[in-house]
Amino acid sequence: MVFVNENYLKLKGGYLFPEIGRRVEAFKQANPQLVDRIIPCGIGDVTEPLPPAVIKAMHDAVDELAKRDTFRGYGPGSGYDFLKKAIVENDFSARNIVIELDEIFISDGSKCDCGAILDIFGKDNRLAITNPVYPVYVDTNVMAGNTGLGNDDGSYEGIEYLPCTAENDFVPAIPTKPVELIYLCYPNNPTGTMINHDQLRAWVDYALANDAIILYDVAYEAYVSDETLPRSIYEIEGAKKCAIEFHSFSKNAGFTGVRCGYTVCPKDVHAVTKGGERIKLHSLWTRRWNTKSNGVSYPVQRGAEAIYSTEGKKQVRILVDYYMANAALLRKGCEESGMKVYGGIHSPYVWVVCPSGTDSWGVFDKLLTQLQIVTTPGAGFGSCGEGYFRISAFNSLENIKEAVNRLSGPVFSK
Ligand SMILES: *Cc1c(COP(=O)(O)O)cnc(C)c1O
Repeated sequence: MVFVNENYLKLKGGYLFPEIGRRVEAFKQANPQLVDRIIPCGIGDVTEPLPPAVIKAMHDAVDELAKRDTFRGYGPGSGYDFLKKAIVENDFSARNIVIELDEIFISDGSKCDCGAILDIFGKDNRLAITNPVYPVYVDTNVMAGNTGLGNDDGSYEGIEYLPCTAENDFVPAIPTKPVELIYLCYPNNPTGTMINHDQLRAWVDYALANDAIILYDVAYEAYVSDETLPRSIYEIEGAKKCAIEFHSFSKNAGFTGVRCGYTVCPKDVHAVTKGGERIKLHSLWTRRWNTKSNGVSYPVQRGAEAIYSTEGKKQVRILVDYYMANAALLRKGCEESGMKVYGGIHSPYVWVVCPSGTDSWGVFDKLLTQLQIVTTPGAGFGSCGEGYFRISAFNSLENIKEAVNRLSGPVFSK
């Protein structure tokens, strides 16, 4: 007999989006005449087509592959320098942050990186993860055997949960217990809220003082609409010694289906062996890439490079502005219906307080059955998400206008 990885059996989940799908399906079965009215504002997937500059670059790259003279086979495991250069110049040098080409690792998306990074960490690190949270951080740690068993409320033994609520502006307090591996994500999914430099500096200072490492997810960085807020953790002094940063082209350039992102692993980030020897994580991460990957496809990397061209930047701006305008409409619509809203200013997600007397699944059901709007119940992101629901602005303007129109009716008084 072959043994399985029993850590997978500890997983509670796969619960949230399948459960939403099940409820939507049941509603459709029972109400076939309303199927066309359903507006999906649940899952965080983009709806608008790729920027033309990206399409052209990908077409051209495919044509190169069609000719013997310009054909390319295996590329570098951690990505081509042409893309790394575009990234370093635009995302870092332009903001006075010094990052070297070989500190950039191109991948097929940051969800994958958030899981893969655990390859280079030991098993006994104390984990700090926000609540509510993007479930990937939790589940990948469960799979890797870094947690104990799951509890009925969806939490796991061995994780220090950091509550993010309206009381702390959805930025967790510095923990009183020592922790080593800290997950932070700003602009945040699911709350749609942001962190400022002082708040982020407090975390960097904590990490430096306690030999901790921050895994910082900036998938929504393009949505930061206030120049004074941090778009990278490396804007904070000292972060290059204690932070690994995850970027994605999914939410800015619409790459959710194309698949490309990157990780920054600075050479100054260290962790220790059981014997106390300091090891550069950069060496391990480089080795991991060269061993386990042959990289992202050439046309996709050319497409990603085009995001940073003059045309590409303009076109990405238009895409992000489109979703941001949707988010503003959603915020306004919810507020005018008497609901309290957070987020949606530096992110495509609006985090809405459930009207009193209804829990988050209750609101979900009400919005589905009475208004045919699909949202995401906050409880699905962790116990501190109870009392909230998330509306995604990733949709057509027409759909968002219609959703706002429906929300303006007296649904919660019924
Ligand atoms: C969408 C999202 C990502 C990006 O995932 P990709 O694999 O790059 O598509 C990463 N982190 C968070 C929090 C997200 O919401």
